[in-house]
Amino acid sequence: MYKFSEEQELIRSTIRDIVNDQIKPRAKMYDEEERFPTENIKDLRDNGFLHLTLPEEYGGIGADIMTYATVTEEIARGCASTATIFAGNNSLGISPIMMFGTEEQKERLIPYFTKEEGLGAFALSEPHAGSDPASLSTRAKKDGDEWVINGSKFYITNAAEASIFIVFARSNDQPGHKGISMFAVPADTPGITVMPPEKKMGIKASVTSAMTFEDVRIPADNLIGQEGKGLSQALSILDKGRIAVAAQATGISQAAYEDSLKYAQERVQFGKPIISFQGIQMMIAEMATKINASRLLYQNAAVLQMEGKRFTQAAAMAKLFASEAATAVTHKAIQIHGGGGFLKDFEVERYYRDARVTEIYEGTSEVMKMVISREALKM
Ligand SMILES: Cc1cc2nc3c(=O)[nH]c(=O)nc-3n(C[C@H](O)[C@H](O)[C@H](O)COP(=O)(O)OP(=O)(O)OC[C@H]3O[C@@H](n4cnc5c(N)ncnc54)[C@H](O)[C@@H]3O)c2cc1C
Repeated sequence: MYKFSEEQELIRSTIRDIVNDQIKPRAKMYDEEERFPTENIKDLRDNGFLHLTLPEEYGGIGADIMTYATVTEEIARGCASTATIFAGNNSLGISPIMMFGTEEQKERLIPYFTKEEGLGAFALSEPHAGSDPASLSTRAKKDGDEWVINGSKFYITNAAEASIFIVFARSNDQPGHKGISMFAVPADTPGITVMPPEKKMGIKASVTSAMTFEDVRIPADNLIGQEGKGLSQALSILDKGRIAVAAQATGISQAAYEDSLKYAQERVQFGKPIISFQGIQMMIAEMATKINASRLLYQNAAVLQMEGKRFTQAAAMAKLFASEAATAVTHKAIQIHGGGGFLKDFEVERYYRDARVTEIYEGTSEVMKMVISREALKM
């Protein structure tokens, strides 16, 4: 078990209090209204959490990945939609610029995140390029000292609320991954259209949209990292992002477990609380074990990252396991709640719907298995 420093413990207890007092009580309302959780994001911003991973000189607290993942788990325990928005901003918005941007780019572009209502989004997926991003077709053409972007993107988290997009586009005629580059595109650039948010099964308070780029002109120096290296940059950004998705899944499982344990002690059948039945105890035991394993796996990946070791496989294992565990744990939580679990009266039905996407975004479970086996062959 990872031993937290005093500072990490303080951050964990601070976010836990904010989640318990402010974020969790609003989660049901935002889900039912399918509305962006403005108040939750404001609470994160006001308490210095929205840009947690930004170094202090840029307005964050420079949290390491263990602290970031722990905070993601805590937020997801209260509201998975809010955790999606938070992680989208940190893992997929801030991280690409901090990992690959020059000092000049960081100084110029980070204010898009830190300004009032600033939020980042990551535009990789396209209608015909999901698990296979090397087949994406959005184009970026050089025109003097500008890049001109044309194409469409699909399923973009935070798109409707973003102040800046990290966009992947084909910048030369090389086939597959070699032709792809990464760009920072301010959301107010003419030519960008964000479609209305998609109707989703879960994480309904997060916004996910298709978008189009029509002759979108950005300065030449908004190319982030090396030209033609955009896809390999995206994959290393996603390695870190997957630790946060695993943590998010663990947080959803933890919420389902806590509610189930409480309900099983209160609900009486056959003259006894249902927790006294071995059938219920078995479910609780399975849930607790899956949650502990999920947390240990994402913490293991985080430790490797912090030690500067290769963590691609560990992150994929954590995401694969924790996301499938979240589906299993929330499924059992509904079972323990009986008919009530199927109604909207309890929160477990939301956890079940929210958990499902963690097996899909930032790489499906099948893609995680491809990554894990590919890494195994390298060893
Ligand atoms: C709510 C939500 C938010 C999202 N946010 C973002 C975002 O912010 N930015 C972004 O760029 N994208 C985002 N995505 C897109 C997400 O990353 C993709 O949906 C995901 O990568 C899968 O791509 P796809 O949907 O096109 O499925 P496909 O790639 O078409 O896959 C369909 C099925 O085929 C399987 N499959 C595909 N290839 C193989 C193979 N070689 N072997 C075995 N099985 C295979 C998949 O595992 C899956 O089961 C989001 C998606 C959702 C649902």
